[in-house]
Amino acid sequence: MTLSRRSLLAGAAILAASSRARAAADADVAVIGAGAAGLAAAAAIRHGGHSVVVLEARGRIGGRAFTETALGPGRSFDAGGQYVHWAERNPWREIVRAAGVRTSDDATGSWPVLVRDGVRASEAERRQRRSGFGRVSALLDHPAGPDRSVAQAVAGEDEAARAAATGLTRLTLGEEPDRVSAADYDQLWSGDDIWVDGYGALVARHYADLPVRLDTPVTGIDWRGPGVAVETPRGTLRAACAIVTVPIGVLASEALRFIPALPAPNAEAVAGLTMGAYTKIGLALDLARWRPQDLRDAVILQSGTPGLTAYLEMQPFGKPLAVLHCGGDGARALCEAGERAALAAATDHLVSVFGAEIRAAVTAGRLAPWWTDPFSRGSYSLARPGHLAAREALHLPVAERIFLAGEAAAGGAAMTVGGATLDGERAARDVLKRLGS
Ligand SMILES: Cc1cc2nc3c(=O)[nH]c(=O)nc-3n(C[C@H](O)[C@H](O)[C@H](O)COP(=O)(O)OP(=O)(O)OC[C@H]3O[C@@H](n4cnc5c(N)ncnc54)[C@H](O)[C@@H]3O)c2cc1C
Repeated sequence: MTLSRRSLLAGAAILAASSRARAAADADVAVIGAGAAGLAAAAAIRHGGHSVVVLEARGRIGGRAFTETALGPGRSFDAGGQYVHWAERNPWREIVRAAGVRTSDDATGSWPVLVRDGVRASEAERRQRRSGFGRVSALLDHPAGPDRSVAQAVAGEDEAARAAATGLTRLTLGEEPDRVSAADYDQLWSGDDIWVDGYGALVARHYADLPVRLDTPVTGIDWRGPGVAVETPRGTLRAACAIVTVPIGVLASEALRFIPALPAPNAEAVAGLTMGAYTKIGLALDLARWRPQDLRDAVILQSGTPGLTAYLEMQPFGKPLAVLHCGGDGARALCEAGERAALAAATDHLVSVFGAEIRAAVTAGRLAPWWTDPFSRGSYSLARPGHLAAREALHLPVAERIFLAGEAAAGGAAMTVGGATLDGERAARDVLKRLGS
C-alpha cells in the first residue's frame, strides 16, 4: 500500500494529537477503584514500567476486602471477604502464609453446629438437610439444556431440596434462587477454603505503597479524545488508558458516566450481571455476662429466624464476638432498615438460638451495609439466568483505552478477592500490550 499525501497529513494530525495527549497526560494509566482488582492492576502496571494513579472514592483502600475494627481492640472481623477460596490456585494463599496471618488452621472449635429454636438439631434433621443439599448439588452439577435459574433447576424436587437450594443461594450467592443462573453457579471454582483473621487488613497492607488518591469518586470518564479524561470533584485526570474496577452495581447505577456511553456489547455485558446482597452484622459480646454452655465449642451455628436465612459465627478466632451472616431479600431489608434496626434483628436472632440471657451480653454492633453502600451497591456479582457469557464479555476493551476489570469479570473465580486480583492482573496485561510494553 502506498501512502497518499492526504493520508500522510491525516496520520501526522493523529500523531500530533496523541503526542499532545501524552504531553497533557497526568499518568499513562488511571485505575478507578482501589479494591483487590484495582490494586493488583496498578501494581502490575507499575511493574511494567508505566506511570499509574489509582482513584478511590472511599477514604480507605481494599474495597470489599475490609476488616472492620469499629467494635474495638480484639474485636475485629472481616465485613467483606474472609475466606481464601479455592486456595490451591489462589495467589492469596502464599501471601497469607508469608505474612504469618492467623487462619482457620489455627482456630479451635468444630463446625457447623445446626441449631433450631435454641436446640441442637437431631440426627434425623441433620440427615434430611444433608440429603436435600446432596440432591441440589447433583442437579446443579453441569446442568443440561439451556441456562435457567437455580429455582427452575430444582422446581420438580421436594420441599427439603427446594429449601436447601434457597439456603444455598442466599448464603453463598447472597441472592434468591429465582434470580441466579444455574450455569453460572456451576462454573464457579471450588477447592479448599482458608479462613483468614483479617483478610481485608492484609489486602490493604500488601498494597500500601501504591499511588492512590483517596476520597476521590470518579463521576465521569470522557473517552472522546485520544486518551481518557477522568472526572472527579477534585479535578480531571488525563491518561492514555483507564482500568475501571468499580463493582457492577456502581456501573449499572450510572453514578459513573461514560462519555459517550459504553458501546452496546460492553453495556449488554454489564446488564447481564446483577449484585447479590450478602451481609454481615458483628455483635460485641461481654463474656462476663454470658458464657456459652453446651455450644461452647461451636464456631458456626445455624438457625431459622422466620424470613431470614442466616448463620452465626460464635467467638471467631476466640474473640468476644458473634457475627451474623445473611443474604438475599432478608439481608437487603436489613441494610435498607439501617444499622439500628439491623443490630436489633441480629440480637433477636442470637436470642432465638441461645435464649434471652444473651441479650444483656450484647454491648455494641456493626452492620456491613454493602447493599446500600453507594460504592458497592451489593455484595458480589451474579449472572442473570441466560447471561453466563456476560462475565467474559466484560473483557472487551472500549476503543483500546477503557478496560473493565474486577471480580465480576473473573469467570469461575468471580465473587472472590483472589478472582478480583487475577482479573486486575489480566487487565494490566491487556493495557501493557496496548501501551507497547
Ligand atoms: C459480605 C461479603 C463477603 C465476602 N466473602 C468473601 C470471601 O469469604 N472470600 C472471598 O474471596 N471473597 C469474598 N467476598 C467477595 C470479595 O470481597 C470481592 O469479590 C472482592 O473484594 C472484589 O474486589 P474488586 O476489586 O473487584 O471490587 P471492590 O473491592 O469493590 O473494589 C472496587 C473499588 O472501587 C471503589 N469505587 C466505587 N465507585 C467508585 C467511583 N465512582 N470512583 C472511584 N472509586 C470507586 C470502591 O470504593 C472500591 O474500593 C465477599 C464480599 C462480601 C461483600
